[in-house]
Amino acid sequence: MSTERIKCLIIGSGPAGYTAAIYAARADLKPVMITGMEMGGQLTTTTDVENFPGYPEGIQGPEMMEEFKKQAERFGTDIRIGYVSKAELATEKGGWHKITVNDSDIIEAKTVIISTGASAKYLGLESEKRLMGHGVSACAVCDGFFFKGQRTVIVGAGDSACEEASYLSKLCPKVTMLVRRGEMRASKIMQDRVKNTENIEILYNTETIEVLGDQTVTGVKVKNNKTGEESVIEAEGFFLAIGHTPNSSIFKGQIDMDETGYIKTIPGTSKTNLHGVFATGDVQDKHYRQAVTAAGSGCMGALDAEKYLAEVESMVEA
Ligand code: NDP
Repeated sequence: MSTERIKCLIIGSGPAGYTAAIYAARADLKPVMITGMEMGGQLTTTTDVENFPGYPEGIQGPEMMEEFKKQAERFGTDIRIGYVSKAELATEKGGWHKITVNDSDIIEAKTVIISTGASAKYLGLESEKRLMGHGVSACAVCDGFFFKGQRTVIVGAGDSACEEASYLSKLCPKVTMLVRRGEMRASKIMQDRVKNTENIEILYNTETIEVLGDQTVTGVKVKNNKTGEESVIEAEGFFLAIGHTPNSSIFKGQIDMDETGYIKTIPGTSKTNLHGVFATGDVQDKHYRQAVTAAGSGCMGALDAEKYLAEVESMVEA
């Protein structure tokens, strides 16, 4: 057990966390980063990343996160593998935020940049897990391009599913949407968009039994939950769009969140309702969820933290 006091603590090691670290370290805030148990975040579960500027040939997700890490380390970020087990956030300006790491070590930080991300929801099928990155994906905008000219199936009936089905329909000759109930949850305008797209077929009351394929996806076995009838849809891609869970539970009750747990930030900034606590990346963004937008917001977090520290330091001097 140890206790230390630092200027800047970054929680999470996805694109938002590492970018915050690069900026904070270069500004001499001597940041400490607690990586979380899924070091590198969601990108470590994807294969090729082709839409992050600066990699004209594309790069593997895990490799890109390794590059982010090296860049953060180059400027002196103290990266520690571990998880935050408790957070006691100060409410007064200039206060110390007390963070417990691995149930034992205590870090008191003047600023905390929360970059804990969000986790895509999966169905929980063995076949889905096995074929992850080999035809199974939870992000059509990230991976849809790899299925250009191929058939895809997408599960979900919310706005994301409709948006992602529309995106896929521009690349794929056939997109099948699997809706578990007799109706969709999505807004009417989004529903109309998919209903009016010729190459999108919507199957209602339909659940996934298994994703088929040995090395890569070859099809999806489904069941109509009204009739009990089972059938196979041939497809090369299987997409999940059944929602995300922001990784914010550790801060619940202390910081303002929306009803689904996304941390609220003041628009155009990374500031939360608490002094010295900033939220960046997917934990505060349910719309864009891209590596590049998360990285941009990580930069905002570090710049906001730097400005806040200057303010509280001048308060002490005055
Ligand atoms: P939602 O929670 O709105 O929808 C999730 C969908 O997945 C639901 O239709 C749900 O079905 C379905 N689902 C959940 N679990 C399963 C399962 N095990 N099997 C099959 N289907 C399942 O999540 P979204 O990501 O779509 O949206 C999140 C928020 O972001 C919403 O507020 C949405 O409006 C917003 N958003 C807005 C956009 C826009 O305005 N352009 C774009 C994207 C998102 P069921 O309906 O039966 O519960």
